[in-house]
Amino acid sequence: MKAQDYPPAVLELIASLKRMPGVGSRGAERLALWFLQHGRNDACRLSAALTSAAQDISTCPECGFFTTAGERCTACDDPTRRADLFCVVEQPTDVLPIERCGTFRGLYHCLGGKISPLDGVMPEDLSVEKLLTRVRSAPGCEVILAVGSDVEGEATALYLAEQLAALNCTVTRIAQGMPAGAGLGHADPITLMRALEGRRGL
Ligand SMILES: [Zn+2]
Repeated sequence: MKAQDYPPAVLELIASLKRMPGVGSRGAERLALWFLQHGRNDACRLSAALTSAAQDISTCPECGFFTTAGERCTACDDPTRRADLFCVVEQPTDVLPIERCGTFRGLYHCLGGKISPLDGVMPEDLSVEKLLTRVRSAPGCEVILAVGSDVEGEATALYLAEQLAALNCTVTRIAQGMPAGAGLGHADPITLMRALEGRRGL
């Protein structure tokens, strides 16, 4: 006798949901059953949104933030932003917390990570050359290093400061006051605003 189980398509749905961050086995099963029993319209919308995001979303060729494939992001395309002020962050997800604090009117640069030899991440794995190119084309600019305050973040900031020292720019670092060992995504807007205002030269 064969034991009863969900049809293969449902098992595949559960397996796919289980691969999402923060979704365990029971959560995946509950979500899958909810889609089947009550949320078929939502399932179709979600499916379309996932397909669209997977196919159409890429990274901005200038700064590395998320954007529609083949286009620059909203910030890089905004002529009212200061083109002589760069805010360097580790990940694209660090951009919006800064943007939402409302005081920064310059451009962003996402490194794509931080230097961490133990994890196999070296400077050449990050978007450093592109940053240097952008800084060279904006003589006299300020580069704010808004990378994290953990060990890897500090090492990344020091490395960038060395690379930028020969160029015609001012290098600053956001002030401490960020929670130690945490990324920008965990900071509230006021902490971020103060950290930006209290940035210091290196
Ligand atoms: Zn951009």
